[in-house]
Amino acid sequence: MKSAFEGKEIWFLTGSQDLYGEDTLAQVAHQSQEVVTDLNRDGDLPVRIVWKPTLKDSDSIRRAILDANSDDNVVGVITWMHTFSPAKMWINGLGVLHKPLLHLNTQANVALPWDSIDFDFMNLNQSAHGDREYAYILSRLRIARETVVGHVGDPKVRERVALWSRACVGWAAVNGLNVVRFGDNMRNVAVTDGDKTEAERVLGVNVSTWSANELVEEISKVTSTEAEALAAEYESLYDVVPELREGGARHDSLVYAASQEIAIRRFLEERNAGAFTTNFEDLGALKQLPGIAAQRLMAQGYGFGAEGDWKTAVLVRAVKAMSEGLPGGASLMEDYTYNLVRGEELILGAHMLEICPSLTTQKPRVEIHPLGIGGKEDPVRMVFHTDPGPAVVVSMADMGARFRLTANEVEVVTPPAPMPNLPVAHAVWKPQPSLEVSAECWMESGGAHHTVLTTSVGADIFRLFAEMASTELLVIDQETTVPAFKDKLRWNFAYYHLANGL
Ligand code: MN
Repeated sequence: MKSAFEGKEIWFLTGSQDLYGEDTLAQVAHQSQEVVTDLNRDGDLPVRIVWKPTLKDSDSIRRAILDANSDDNVVGVITWMHTFSPAKMWINGLGVLHKPLLHLNTQANVALPWDSIDFDFMNLNQSAHGDREYAYILSRLRIARETVVGHVGDPKVRERVALWSRACVGWAAVNGLNVVRFGDNMRNVAVTDGDKTEAERVLGVNVSTWSANELVEEISKVTSTEAEALAAEYESLYDVVPELREGGARHDSLVYAASQEIAIRRFLEERNAGAFTTNFEDLGALKQLPGIAAQRLMAQGYGFGAEGDWKTAVLVRAVKAMSEGLPGGASLMEDYTYNLVRGEELILGAHMLEICPSLTTQKPRVEIHPLGIGGKEDPVRMVFHTDPGPAVVVSMADMGARFRLTANEVEVVTPPAPMPNLPVAHAVWKPQPSLEVSAECWMESGGAHHTVLTTSVGADIFRLFAEMASTELLVIDQETTVPAFKDKLRWNFAYYHLANGL
C-alpha cells in the first residue's frame, strides 16, 4: 500500500501587515523562512513544512487558504503572526478553511537581548501580542486548532508539531477513504452498524457493500502459481505447522488463504479502497473466513473490521496512516474475557482470527483450526502474543445524533501463563485506571466491543484527530473516576446537542 505520507506537505503561513515598511517586512520574511528551515532541519518532523510568502491583507489570506484547501497534498496549515496582523483581515480566509490548523505562537529569538533591546527590536518581535490578536478571532469564529507555544528549536515544541502532523496525515487518510464491505453486518448486532451517509458527511468516508461472491470471482482469477508463491512466502516468514506446509495434508487450505489475500488486495486496489470488512455470516461461496489474509492486509496498512464493522475498519486505517514508520502496531481488537482475580485484573483481547501481526515482534505461528461458526472450512490464521507495553484501545460508536470515540489507556502485559490451547492471536492488558473503573466508564460511554488497539501512538493523537474530525472523544486514563466521567457524559450530551443545532 502506498505511504500515507508520500508527497504530503503542511503550509506555513506568516501573518503581518503593510504598516512596517519594506525593510521590516524583508526581515519578517527572512525570519519566517528561518523558522521553517529550523522545523524541517533534523528530519524529525514526519511531514515537510512549506514556507509561503508573508500575508498582509484579506485577499491574499483568503487566496492562500483556498489554495491550501484545493491541494490534496496539503494535510494542514500552520499559522504564525510575526509582528502584528490585524485579525479582521483573517475573517474571510478562516471562514473557508477546510484543513487542520496549528497556531504556532513562536518568535525568532529565544532569549530577550536584555542589554541591547530597543524599540525596533520590540516592534519586530511582537508575536506575543500579534498571536493574541489572531487567536481572538480564531476563538470568536470557534475554529478548532492546536495552539503550540515556544521556540521551534525546543524539542517539546517539535514533538507537538510532529504529533499534530501525524494526526493530519491520519485525517487526510480518512477523508476520502473508500471502505469495501464484503457482505453486510452481522445480523442484529447494534454497535457495529451505523449511519453510513452521516459517516460520509462527517468523516468523508465512503462505505459500500459488495457481495462476497464478487470476491469469490476475484479469487478464481488468481493463478495457482501466484497463490503457491505467496504460500511459500508464508512458509519462509512464519512458523507454519507441518500439515499446512508444502506436502502437508492440508496445504491446499494455506494456498487458498493466500489466494484470498491476493484477491482482496486486488479488489481493494481496483476500487481505490483503503479498508474492508468481512462477515462470517455472509460468506457466499468463500471456502473459509479470511484469517491470515485479513491479518496480513492490516499489516500492509489496510483498515479492517470484522462482522461488517466498517467504523472499526475506518479507525484501523486512520491509525495505520498516523503511525506509519513508528515502532509497535495497530489492529482490530475485541474485549473477549476477563481475569477477575482481585489485584490481578486483566482483559484478554482477541478475535476469531483477525489480529494484525504488527502487534508482535515474535515470529507468528500459522495454524489451522475449526471456527465453530459460519459453517465453512477451517480457516488459516496467525497465532501470537501482543508485545507488552503501553497501548490505547479506541472505539467508534454511532450515538444516533453523532459519532462518539471512546479511548482507554492500557498496559499490554506478558500473559501470566502460556495458553497453549488458545488458537488465535491475542493481547492481554491491564486497563487504566483499573479494570473496574475502565469497564464501567467504557460501558457508560457506549463504547463498542470492537476497537483498534495500538502500541504505536497514545491517546494524545486521538485528541488531535477527534478535533480535526469534529467528533466527540472520551478518554479513560489514570485520572478517570466514575462520577467525573458520568458528569462529562452529561455535559457532552448537552454540548453536542447544542453545537449540532437543529
Ligand atoms: Mn467481533
